[in-house]
Amino acid sequence: MKRAGVAYLFPAERRVALSNLAPHYFFGAFRESHGLDLLFDGEERSLLDRKRPNEVAVLLVGLSYEPSYLTFVRYLQANGIPVLRSDRPAGNFPLIIAGGVAPSLNPQPLLDICDAVLCGEAEPMHDDLTALLDSPATARELIAKLPYAAKPGRKPRIIQAAAGRFAVHSHPELAAEGNEFGGRTVLELDRGCIGKCYFCAARHLYGESREADRHLITHAAEAAFKRGEDIALLGTGLESVSYFDDLLDRAIAAGRTVSLSSVRIAGFTPQRAARLVAAGVKTVTLAPESMVAATRSRIGKPLSDESLFAAFELAKEHHFRVKLYLMAGLPDGDSAAEAQALIAFFTDLKKRKLTVPLSLSVSPFCPKPGTPFRDKALMPKKEYEHFRAAAMRGLDKLMPQMPIEWFSWRESLLQTALGRLGTDGAQFLAAYADTGNLRTAEKRSGIRLEDAASEIAGITVATGRKKSA
Ligand code: SF4
Repeated sequence: MKRAGVAYLFPAERRVALSNLAPHYFFGAFRESHGLDLLFDGEERSLLDRKRPNEVAVLLVGLSYEPSYLTFVRYLQANGIPVLRSDRPAGNFPLIIAGGVAPSLNPQPLLDICDAVLCGEAEPMHDDLTALLDSPATARELIAKLPYAAKPGRKPRIIQAAAGRFAVHSHPELAAEGNEFGGRTVLELDRGCIGKCYFCAARHLYGESREADRHLITHAAEAAFKRGEDIALLGTGLESVSYFDDLLDRAIAAGRTVSLSSVRIAGFTPQRAARLVAAGVKTVTLAPESMVAATRSRIGKPLSDESLFAAFELAKEHHFRVKLYLMAGLPDGDSAAEAQALIAFFTDLKKRKLTVPLSLSVSPFCPKPGTPFRDKALMPKKEYEHFRAAAMRGLDKLMPQMPIEWFSWRESLLQTALGRLGTDGAQFLAAYADTGNLRTAEKRSGIRLEDAASEIAGITVATGRKKSA
């Protein structure tokens, strides 16, 4: 079979995939020049040219978090592409190149699956990818020279775009496909973070806060308003972006609305709240992570209880819904005391008459590679269950109407294990591709996720920066 062209696979269902900006970036960067098409989980053919994955010369794969590795390997298997690289004779299958946040943190489990794992941000890779797509036959030689292409047992070098040298947003030609933001045009305003939370991969992988190109982002927002679309703003510290308020004002002037990924509590001021209301923001997402002030200080998020209550006061005054995010099992904490503090917080919130429409999400803390907490432990499953039971005993009485989402401990186990596994992780993933069952994959590969999660891969992360073209 003659293979030609390039496709980008984001291993998720189409609507979910297009809610992520990576497929939009690759479509915008390589559709016109190299005919790049998009592939999604559950679809045998590409979006526009109706090609099967096995018909392209190069398959780029975006992996944003570790559980998507499972979808990726199942997708390869379902489409007749052997999962292990050693089972794919060169030239008989597409060249598979993966990237994204999760593989940049620990590429090792993917090294015996993919032909290359590229670590870092896509913009500074643009010229190298162009050369590679121009000549897939010589791609392996080129990849071997890339400093940010991961190598077995070696620390990955993570490449970053300089501030102002990136501007990613929804591609207008993909707008008709919809997304999980109600069809809004999505714009990324910053990377890295001004915060220093010790658990946070965004801060420790992508470094200090960098703003997207103001001119290009503003232009994309204005174009969206002209098409009659609302916008969604993504970022790690939106309210610290120098042109955030200007974008809100432009949306207000155009009569359009804005939705936000989250606001940092420190930046949720009375002036900002009033502006958000005018820009049609209905929900604010607050992530104090813990209801114990000492824990927040210990994890690098030193918020006082009073600042939290002040945020709720603003939310009440301006009729915002609040989405509250917490973590269980933060390092060196006492989960029984954390559950009690959670109940005490809601008791206090009620006493102060600050119970705005509210939802709560709780996830187990995952030690991420490259962060100061990389060597910390995932809390035991039993402890998470006890935490949940203790919290729910109080919340059922106090906040019976509040939607509460408890993230799966097993998914956190998977994230932790894949963040720590070495190249042998490919055997586990190949076994999973065959069976679609985690326990059978554990038995077949001889890799127990709980053992893997309790080991440290010994990989440290270096960063490097290169200006994009
Ligand atoms: S404020 Fe949020 S994005 Fe920034 S370092 Fe903390 S957790 Fe990460």
